[in-house]
Amino acid sequence: MSIADKFLEVSSTIPSDVKLVAVSKTKPNEDILEVYSTGHKIFGENKVQDLVRKKEELPDDIEWHFIGHLQSNKVKYIAPFVSLIHAVDSLKLLRTINKEGKKINRDIPCLLQFHVADEDTKFGLSFEEAVDILESAEYKEMDFVNITGIMGMATFTDSEGQVRDEFSTLKDIFEKLKDRFYETDDSFKEISMGMSEDYLIAIEEGSTMVRVGSNIFGSRNYY
Ligand SMILES: *Cc1c(COP(=O)(O)O)cnc(C)c1O
Repeated sequence: MSIADKFLEVSSTIPSDVKLVAVSKTKPNEDILEVYSTGHKIFGENKVQDLVRKKEELPDDIEWHFIGHLQSNKVKYIAPFVSLIHAVDSLKLLRTINKEGKKINRDIPCLLQFHVADEDTKFGLSFEEAVDILESAEYKEMDFVNITGIMGMATFTDSEGQVRDEFSTLKDIFEKLKDRFYETDDSFKEISMGMSEDYLIAIEEGSTMVRVGSNIFGSRNYY
């Protein structure tokens, strides 16, 4: 099956109100253009260098999402064009995003990343850490970051029950933050959860945005 056909197959399993981020990390421009030719415009990358290069080489109307762990010193390279930074997990990173946004007068959309999986290698905040950030005077003065929701990853496990519980925890976190900090702010609306192995479960648990790579582009050799 061609990449375009695989994309269409995945896309047909996703309700129209859930956004699909085609995760193109490690994949060449030709592969991305195959998916783009179906009319799809949202792609995700997890390395700053690759994202910047692909942005330059590929059509201008692609919405690029940064889905990986972002180092503060690299924010400046993507700040001018990135459509969404998925994985903000510290006040320090938020501070840098705000600073870079201010330099170019651009409001930068971000998601807060939460740690709900068993593995301690996965980045992310606890609920309490997020509350501390959102209550801080410093955050309240940041005019160039726009937190539009949250993001998380489930444990890599065969246990569907565990994955479902972790997604349900993310949905709870979203609801609590919405009530406490964003009740009147309609831009806080995204729950980015679900990857190739678990996106159907994530959607059942309330995902508004899934990040699917290998089911579309085939397996990767690295990253
Ligand atoms: C690689 C990656 C994905 C996509 O993973 P697949 O299993 O290939 O669908 C989604 N989210 C993040 C954060 C990733 O790094």
